[in-house]
Amino acid sequence: MQKPEANKQTWMEYERNKQLPFAKEENEQELYDSTVQRLLKQTVGGNRQDTIVKPNELWGAPHIQQEQAFSDLNYVDQFAQPASAAEELLLDIRGLEVQLQAKKPLTVIDSIDLTVKQGEIIGIVGESGCGKSVLSLSIMGLLADGMHIQDGEIWYQSRPMHQFTAEQVRRLRGKELAMIFQDPLTSLNPSLTIGQQLTEMLRRHLRFEKQQANREAIRLLQRVELPRPEALLKAYPHQLSGGMRQRVMIAIALSCGPKLLIADEPTTALDVTIQADILDLLRQIRDEDQTSILLVSHDLGVIAELCDRIAVMYAGQIVEQGTVDELFDSPKHPYTEGLLKSIPSPAKKHERLYAIPGVVPALHERGEGCRFYSRCHLASDICLKHQPALIGLGGQHAVRCFAAEQEGRISNGVSAPATSTAIGRN
Ligand code: SF4
Repeated sequence: MQKPEANKQTWMEYERNKQLPFAKEENEQELYDSTVQRLLKQTVGGNRQDTIVKPNELWGAPHIQQEQAFSDLNYVDQFAQPASAAEELLLDIRGLEVQLQAKKPLTVIDSIDLTVKQGEIIGIVGESGCGKSVLSLSIMGLLADGMHIQDGEIWYQSRPMHQFTAEQVRRLRGKELAMIFQDPLTSLNPSLTIGQQLTEMLRRHLRFEKQQANREAIRLLQRVELPRPEALLKAYPHQLSGGMRQRVMIAIALSCGPKLLIADEPTTALDVTIQADILDLLRQIRDEDQTSILLVSHDLGVIAELCDRIAVMYAGQIVEQGTVDELFDSPKHPYTEGLLKSIPSPAKKHERLYAIPGVVPALHERGEGCRFYSRCHLASDICLKHQPALIGLGGQHAVRCFAAEQEGRISNGVSAPATSTAIGRN
């Protein structure tokens, strides 16, 4: 259920609209309303009907007051207790490791801890070969032949996806989990019309009749702001521009109302002006449907434009994660700093564009120490022999770097936890 929008709905209105089983009759509704008021007075010390009162605000009230209030009301904890962290999460990835089968198995991504809440846009950023796409494909259950999940867990809506059968994952895919790929021309089937490709999803997953599927296909094309949708249904992919094809891909991805949309470099193959339109469209989809989006990109500018949180990947691991402000205002990992420095800017038009020296190590070149060692200007002996853990720096910010860890402990004045942390889970 969505949380109330600021300034539009009070928490009480929100709770009232939930139509809890005990509030079906009018007198029960009155009882319920007065009970909520009483609880609010008892716990937060005043009538807060005109303001938004969130469950965690109630939960933050003095413990004794809470207990007294809750003991009076045997049902009120149904709304007053905050949802547990696990309930809020749409996706919770824990210690994910994917291996490539070879003579000696090679680890492609490992130690991935990542959470996605409902309605959140998470950016995954890094150079080519850092494992961004492998991470997306492992969530979708679409890993290429020869790759498999070796370790870790993927929880989807508190359900253990890592234990699902291939058929169970196939049923989720397309319906609840959808993906938009980088190049719409190669992702769309060139021998089928747009209408055939759009209605196939609707008929297969939602069991729509032909007419109903056609009507819905037109609505979806209108939603992604494509002109003359009726005519488009009869067109083939090669008859459309790149931007139109990407909108069609988004319409197909949206056809079954997914809860999680994975967009893998959705704007890379497009002109800059079309890029901005596609980003606007993704933002609109999140705002209207509360769809969570995992946006994969090598472009920090695109990520900053759209995302709530960012995870920076390097050589198969998340090396830094945090909110957009945390990463842009105070990057801690030398790799993140390098990515930020390499964003082109009109202010730097007379300067040589910065490039991080070196390249991402190949799978068989990864040593036992920090994988960024050969490119890092802060590297020391410890970095060569030991792998840094992902350490929390306070807030949502976490980093995998010995040098940044030291600096973070001092600059933030917090003692970082000793174990790895997935932002948003705690
Ligand atoms: S752990 Fe060492 S080598 Fe790795 S990024 Fe930090 S300072 Fe550089």
